[in-house]
Amino acid sequence: MKSAADCLRAIREYSGPPLRFMEVCGTHTDSIFRSGLRDVLPETIRLISGPGCPVCVTPGGYIGAACRLSREDNNVLCTFGDMMRVPGTAGSLAEARAQGGRVRIVYSPMEVLDLAEKAPDLTFYMTAVGFETTLPIYALMLEEMCRRNIKNVRFLTAVKAILPALRWICAGGHAIDGFIGPGHVSAIIGADAYREISGDFGVPVAVAGFEYEHLAAALWDLVNQCRAGSAAVHNLYPNVVTPSGNTAALTLIDKYFVKADTAWRGLGVIEGSGYVLRPAFAEYSAGDWDADSDISEPPGCLCGSVIIGASAPTDCPFFGTRCTPLDPVGPCMVSAEGACGIYYRNRERL
Ligand code: SF4
Ligand code: SF4
Repeated sequence: MKSAADCLRAIREYSGPPLRFMEVCGTHTDSIFRSGLRDVLPETIRLISGPGCPVCVTPGGYIGAACRLSREDNNVLCTFGDMMRVPGTAGSLAEARAQGGRVRIVYSPMEVLDLAEKAPDLTFYMTAVGFETTLPIYALMLEEMCRRNIKNVRFLTAVKAILPALRWICAGGHAIDGFIGPGHVSAIIGADAYREISGDFGVPVAVAGFEYEHLAAALWDLVNQCRAGSAAVHNLYPNVVTPSGNTAALTLIDKYFVKADTAWRGLGVIEGSGYVLRPAFAEYSAGDWDADSDISEPPGCLCGSVIIGASAPTDCPFFGTRCTPLDPVGPCMVSAEGACGIYYRNRERL
């Protein structure tokens, strides 16, 4: 592999038409900022953030359903800390807790099982959000629940599949010239999974890790592919990502979950873009929240457009004024992987 310096030198020599590359994953966005990579790119190469943050793409209707569950008698709503301040249809989970809802922050989903065993009279609802990266953990929870005969845990599922979202973006004519494939998701689904994107839409994909060298190599690869008119999938993270993914994790996912249509914040319902429990495990489901889902943003917030790279966080009139990490208006400012929060933390580099 070329050194990062050689990659950057080659990228800076690029003199073709403007290129727009999407880094799908929020951690990539963060690494790109922190490493200063954005600062050294030529003006013709623009990096845009994608839909890879699980918090940002979770619709307000889902948060609304979680808040409602937390207020019902004998329920405990368990969630990760980064979901607490995400605005929903009727406030956030933090507000629901302040108003008496039983909301418990967990650091590991497995914690929920111990809580459930100790309090058999209560029902514990787990907010199951994320992408293919977190799905094996929920599957392991189910495995453990079956083994320990735990019956008082339910999953409020809003787990997303990354490929349908990328297809949606490509099919919508959003003019993406290349994707930097997310390292963690790719470790589960495998690099070959992106062939449908490169094949059907002629958009190259470079799967990358999270270090400066990985990202420089991915950008160089995409520039090179665009220059050559090629649209292949190149796996630049082979120590972690295999062509076919993590077979054990995929088998476990398939045992408990099945693909279904689901709603994305700002994007709407995308066919086959989510995972729900298989009918055989329906007793562990918190039910369908999509039916009353609200995919709209808080008034004036551009998150839906930021998620698909159609707007930069700085295009939003609230950025850094009405909307900051301490007082967020939309989810992209709440999450550590959200584009607005990352841009805000790196605002002196903009
Ligand atoms: S889970 Fe990993 S790959 Fe997915 S968005 Fe987060 S950091 Fe990126
Ligand atoms: S700056 Fe705030 S209000 Fe604007 S798009 Fe981002 S999260 Fe939404």
